[in-house]
Amino acid sequence: MAAPGGTSEYERKRDFRRTPEPKGDEVEFDWADERPIFVIQKHDASTLHYDFRIEVDGVLKSWAVPKGPSTDPREKRLAMPTEDHPLAYADFEGTIPEGEYGGGTVLIWDRGPYRNLKEIERDEDDDEEPMSVAEQIEDGHVTIWLEGEKISGGYALIRTGGGDDERWLLIKMKDDRADARRNPTSTEPRSVKTGRTIEEIAQEGGESDE
Ligand code: MN
Repeated sequence: MAAPGGTSEYERKRDFRRTPEPKGDEVEFDWADERPIFVIQKHDASTLHYDFRIEVDGVLKSWAVPKGPSTDPREKRLAMPTEDHPLAYADFEGTIPEGEYGGGTVLIWDRGPYRNLKEIERDEDDDEEPMSVAEQIEDGHVTIWLEGEKISGGYALIRTGGGDDERWLLIKMKDDRADARRNPTSTEPRSVKTGRTIEEIAQEGGESDE
């Protein structure tokens, strides 16, 4: 039996004899410091989408964002929750075989450390502990500060609907990193890990030299 908050659903959905995806071993990232990490993986599966993942209590909480993140606070991007992924997944780039769960090509579109905005904005006079990101997810309203290579600043994840209609919105917050003129999903398509395009990864398959 898997521990609560583990990645048993992730493991159940995959045949690790067939997919090159990581099973969830211990991992350390040479591109991150002690802060928790986020990663955005462009995933050319049956429908193209961006998987937005944030490290929370040792796993990657995950949402599939069909249009990817925006830098324009007026854009609300649909984000559908998906199963928790192991932390090691943040380094995965390659091709999942057709017919396997999530079959298609994965590109590491952006990554970096993030911080809980509730902690940054905490009032020194406030005795109460700021809400953790896990509590904010439970509450359906998450605010975090991203330090990626392509996107940065405050982002909000907001739950709307419930039960089978549960869906979330990913929204850029208004701050000095907001920029309505940028469109990084189209102007900056390459992997931040290997510099490759999704076509190059599809041709080369698994990992390449960095
Ligand atoms: Mn995906």
